[in-house]
Amino acid sequence: MRGVVFQGNSLAEVIDYPDIDPGSEQVLIKLRSSGLCGSDFGRYRGDVPNEHNGELRRPGHEPCGEIVALGPNVTGLKVGDRVIQHHYEGCRECEYCLTGWQQLCQVADKKEYYGGSMHGGHGDYMVAHQSTCVPLPDEVAYEVGAYLACGASTAFQAVKKLEVSGLDVLAVFGQGPVGLAATMFGSAMGARIIAVDISPERLKMAADSGAWATVDASNGDAPDQIRELTHGNGADTSLEAAGLAETRVAAVESTKIFGRACLVGEGGEVTYQPTPHIIHRHLTLMGSWTFSTFGLAEAARFTAERNVPLGSVITSRSTIEQAPEAYKKFSSGAAGKFVINWD
Ligand SMILES: [Zn+2]
Ligand SMILES: [Zn+2]
Repeated sequence: MRGVVFQGNSLAEVIDYPDIDPGSEQVLIKLRSSGLCGSDFGRYRGDVPNEHNGELRRPGHEPCGEIVALGPNVTGLKVGDRVIQHHYEGCRECEYCLTGWQQLCQVADKKEYYGGSMHGGHGDYMVAHQSTCVPLPDEVAYEVGAYLACGASTAFQAVKKLEVSGLDVLAVFGQGPVGLAATMFGSAMGARIIAVDISPERLKMAADSGAWATVDASNGDAPDQIRELTHGNGADTSLEAAGLAETRVAAVESTKIFGRACLVGEGGEVTYQPTPHIIHRHLTLMGSWTFSTFGLAEAARFTAERNVPLGSVITSRSTIEQAPEAYKKFSSGAAGKFVINWD
């Protein structure tokens, strides 16, 4: 079977891997779509190949496909099921694992990551534990399922945590794949979205995705522009999906007194001044990291039932053979969602 490998230093290749069979409680998934995610860049750009215990690992942590074989002792799944794969493994016994939050498992040596320490979705097939397979509704395309497998459902979980409603203005900082999904889910939940970015192309995509207003932050005055749009008050809620120090500060400064702000973009550092930024404004500052298996199923159902147009921001569809080229383009900052698709 074919699969991608990250060789290090921004070089991806497609190589032959041995065929695979599902073990006990595992299923074999034929990939139909596999998303590229900004969090792949650490491994892609790193100076060593993506290996675990000396063996190459296929990347790809946004897998979506069809079950084509069952290992022994699989219950509740059958051949032909369309599934989104939740890309984490844990001890399967602690309170986090049992509630579908395997990524929060505290048993360090049981934590695994499909597309990292385990093989992921950038191959013709993958094996996955049955507990990681979430149903993909019939109305939702495989490539949208791949988007939901990490980026889009991360946005869904964060917007839900902010408890936005039709009463709220939600400022979304960063209109990459996560931010665009937050724009669409926030709109579908009734909020008015102010989409913030420095790229005209991304702001255009945000406007087409239901944003009420767009703010070009390239002059560093996003908080002023947001106050102007909100009678001088600031946004009721804000979501930071860029992961930069300046956008983290701007998101907090753009949120009104008694407002809620959620950090989603990862890595790096930030300095807040507790008194003016948080205490004297009664700000609720929260973090949100991905979602549970149940949260993934909920995001997929919500997408189907509310016709959330996630597919409209998929700008790059590659075959697996074209994946190295797609990574090069995605890594250069191209806008929109990138997926690898199979027939
Ligand atoms: Zn991801
Ligand atoms: Zn656990």
